[in-house]
Amino acid sequence: MFSKTNINKFQELDTPFYYYDMEVLRATLDACRDASAKHGFHVHYAMKANFNPKVLDMIQSFGFGADCVSGNEVKAAIEHGFDKGKVVFAGVGKSDREINFALDADIFCFNVESVQELNIIDGLAAAKGKKANVAIRINPNVDAHTHHFITTGLDENKFGINIWQLPDVATALRQCNNLQFLGIHFHIGSQITDLEVYKSLCTRINEMQDWFEDHGFPVKVLNTGGGLGVDYHNPDGNIADFEGYFQVFKSFLNVKPGQEVHFELGRALVAQSASLVSRVLYVKNGQKKNFLILDAGMTELIRPMLYQAYHQIENLSQTSEADTKYDVVGPICESTDCFQKDVDLPQSFRGDLIAVRTAGAYGEVMVSGYNLRDRVGSVYSE
Ligand SMILES: *Cc1c(COP(=O)(O)O)cnc(C)c1O
Repeated sequence: MFSKTNINKFQELDTPFYYYDMEVLRATLDACRDASAKHGFHVHYAMKANFNPKVLDMIQSFGFGADCVSGNEVKAAIEHGFDKGKVVFAGVGKSDREINFALDADIFCFNVESVQELNIIDGLAAAKGKKANVAIRINPNVDAHTHHFITTGLDENKFGINIWQLPDVATALRQCNNLQFLGIHFHIGSQITDLEVYKSLCTRINEMQDWFEDHGFPVKVLNTGGGLGVDYHNPDGNIADFEGYFQVFKSFLNVKPGQEVHFELGRALVAQSASLVSRVLYVKNGQKKNFLILDAGMTELIRPMLYQAYHQIENLSQTSEADTKYDVVGPICESTDCFQKDVDLPQSFRGDLIAVRTAGAYGEVMVSGYNLRDRVGSVYSE
């Protein structure tokens, strides 16, 4: 990702900035498209992972659909040329304004997260004389074996409809004349690296689709959600295992004739394509600890502070051996504003360029203005 020429060019730029390697992004999208097309699977890009305009434009150009979690994401997807017939809209708290916007936009499907929401969408659709396509987001109580802060598919989580509530769903669907039931939707968590988890999910999806068909609701769409993880420890030349991932669903999902299988991938499509590049402002050598104080912090990349996430950290300016341990921290007035403790790095100096790798997903989208910080820049390889 970082050639000598790149690094020389970075010297002249204001830091911090997100550096996007468009070649890595393209190769990742290529791999995902090939692996999914082989099985006729439909992939929606989960926009909340990264909605940088250039990133969106490239993803759109590959023909993926969009998975949105707010009305503004639906709007941005359509503005960036995503086919509205491939836009899905999930989220536990869709406001009336957002639902109305999505109804007017004629999106493919609402992924509905409660019985109450079914009734609200039905009412709003009726007022417009429309029929809304809906999929039921079921909470399958499958453990994603990922960090508990990014687990979404257990009974204790706020997302989706629990299995014991399905009879109420069936009653509501029978009563709601302005809803068209398309199928069932799942999303059990993020940064899932154990593909066995997806086997368990397939088993649960098979049971659930049988339940709906037994109760008189033909299931056209099986939407398995997203969550495929990436390797934060080996950022270079390391595209997610799309082949293996889709193969699990091919092997274990009971797909009936005429059914479509949909996926919503965010992180796996964008994570490796960006790094956060910043400069060392100060080096503090203490008795117990050495600190590298960067000009980027939790306002630019909050994942380490928000969910104890690991990112590989590199000093781009020094080529000597890593012989010093540093706590790499940001300038923000919070003690949690630390990227990582005890990082092995070459001896580092004021002005050195530091890269925080694998920052393309849930990075730039979570930038905040806390401490009245300047908005982080974006630099593209092409
Ligand atoms: C966030 C989200 C995704 C994408 O998750 P990744 O871990 O980034 O793949 C998919 N579906 C829904 C409903 C989501 O909220």
